[in-house]
Amino acid sequence: MYIKSIESLVAIANEQNKKISDIVIDIEAKSEKTDRQAIIDKMTSYYDIMKESVENGKKDKFNFVTGLQNECVDIVEKFYKAKKSILGETVGEVVTAAMAVSGYNACMGKIIAAPTAGSCGIMPAVLTVCENRGYKKEDIVKSMFTAAGLADIIAQIATFAGAGGGCMAECGSAAAMASSACAEIMGGTPEECAHAFALSLSAVLGLICDPVAGFVEVPCMGKNVMSAVHAIVSAELACAGFKSVIPPDEVVLAMKEVGDGMDERFRETAKGGLANTPTGRAIAEKLLGRINK
Ligand code: SF4
Repeated sequence: MYIKSIESLVAIANEQNKKISDIVIDIEAKSEKTDRQAIIDKMTSYYDIMKESVENGKKDKFNFVTGLQNECVDIVEKFYKAKKSILGETVGEVVTAAMAVSGYNACMGKIIAAPTAGSCGIMPAVLTVCENRGYKKEDIVKSMFTAAGLADIIAQIATFAGAGGGCMAECGSAAAMASSACAEIMGGTPEECAHAFALSLSAVLGLICDPVAGFVEVPCMGKNVMSAVHAIVSAELACAGFKSVIPPDEVVLAMKEVGDGMDERFRETAKGGLANTPTGRAIAEKLLGRINK
């Protein structure tokens, strides 16, 4: 990608009266010296792997390294099937899918890292639920280019790495990507997609990375679930006309500032936050024979 700002990407889309996804597909086809269909076919194969990871994550019996949350998907599915949820069936589907893929990754299942393995539950949960709600697969696949195009600005300015910018960089970026995709799927304009991206990201600035005992399980699965729901809410807010007061590019700059200023304890070292609680340290000691210092 060669677009240097979200503002430019939106402006090009508006000038050409196209969706952001169409602009990104054109750029990718040119850069890969191929045609649009080849680029779309490749993305379709990634979406199919995402769908498989949802299904596999739901049906597989987990055997986590920590053994701490082996029953997680069963428990959650049972709750939603019992119709106990205040938020309802769709949220239940999002929650279950995000947890299934996140758990599947923790157990070494095949996933698509979008943008990272730790945050891999968010995009599949949001996109597959859109397909379950009747949106066309081809539009869902196209929306992944909008997510990728906007996320490329994060890649250029900030980071996707928890070790660089905390969980804000992983689950925060994934939520922003999923939110922009969801906005486009729902018929949002380029500006609305950009605002969905910004609203989603701005709400999680400062989110730390504190994996207990260093495993991508606790609190990662919960963060995937919350981020997936948050992504859809941000998309709906943007499509309703609610804007990020801080322009999307400035939100990414703020993300960079927050990540750079984040204490090392909160950047995937498992030395701070939940990893450094008495229980977190006891789990680490039991599993790894050491206490984080
Ligand atoms: S808490 Fe850290 S390891 Fe877990 S998903 Fe977030 S960034 Fe990844």
